[in-house]
Amino acid sequence: MSNIAVLDQKTIDKIAAGEVIERPSSVVKELVENAIDAGSTAITVEIKEGGISFIRITDNGCGIKKEEVPLAFLRHSTSKIQSVEDLMTVSSLGFRGEALSSIAAVAQVELISKPAKELLGVRYIIEGSQEKSMEEIGAPDGTTFLIRNLFYNTPARQKFLKSPTTEGNYISELLQRLALSHPNISFKFINNGQIKLHTSGNTNLKDIIYHIYGREISKELLEIQEELGDIKIEGFIGKPVISRGNRNFENYFINGRYVKSNIISKGIEQAYKNFMMQHKYPFTVLHFSIKGELLDINVHPTKMELRFSNKEEIYQFIHDTVYNRLQKRELIPEVEISA
Ligand code: ADP
Ligand code: MG
Repeated sequence: MSNIAVLDQKTIDKIAAGEVIERPSSVVKELVENAIDAGSTAITVEIKEGGISFIRITDNGCGIKKEEVPLAFLRHSTSKIQSVEDLMTVSSLGFRGEALSSIAAVAQVELISKPAKELLGVRYIIEGSQEKSMEEIGAPDGTTFLIRNLFYNTPARQKFLKSPTTEGNYISELLQRLALSHPNISFKFINNGQIKLHTSGNTNLKDIIYHIYGREISKELLEIQEELGDIKIEGFIGKPVISRGNRNFENYFINGRYVKSNIISKGIEQAYKNFMMQHKYPFTVLHFSIKGELLDINVHPTKMELRFSNKEEIYQFIHDTVYNRLQKRELIPEVEISA
């Protein structure tokens, strides 16, 4: 054993990066969430080789001021919260200030950004946490991130990546969910030169479901809109006839964030129980609006898990809403059996 010593900053950053950036789809998730937080109405994601060698994300959001660009790449630097108290009411997708520093620690990053009111934009290059250059250039309003050669300096991580096709599929699924979670934003996804997804941003959730899942699914949907105190549920659930063999089609979002929650899944699945065969799972695209005070989203760096302060109430509301809607659906008349 050697002597105890504090790790240098570059090593700390590389280790920390592993928590947030696991694979190309994590990069896309973090950067698209930043673009959403920046108020963008159009976001384009372009990848090559499953995102391993090339990811480009362009948005038309607020941009980053030249003097703040190097700051944005520091660990724990964020414009979204100032104190722990803000965590209670934070409405942005990001707030931990870890994404840019983590990505820059394990990839070659080029950023071009220009806030609308500036005349010139900035181009900034950073590789393996090392600033390479910064210059003023002409640029459109908004931000473009170019990420090359993910994990080029952490071969151990690179070994755990799957094939480019599989990594590309993860990104494709992620973008479908992001499009479903933000019907007011136009998303475009280009994989190896081919357009794979293009939503209009016209706010119509059903259009997006049609675009992603096709006619067979979108013609078997039931609309939901319910409110109880500080909780609101909106969206669509599939009729039991389009139930699936796995949970991949159970989409739900809390305050615009894709999450996994046992409480919500159980509430939905229990409601379907008597309408569906065993080992089948429903199709849903549900948006929950829940007051920030009733949630803790800061459980894990990826913010996929969360805690509720009123579990039972939320479970019951979801269950009852879905159950009632299923019962009210237009049923084929059932034969009455008299005793
Ligand atoms: P967080 O999103 O948690 O604040 P990030 O490391 O992802 O942390 O980003 C750091 C900061 O960089 C953000 O708080 C934001 O101010 C700025 N930023 C990042 N991406 C963009 C973007 N696409 N448009 C405008 N600002 C951005
Ligand atoms: Mg972020």
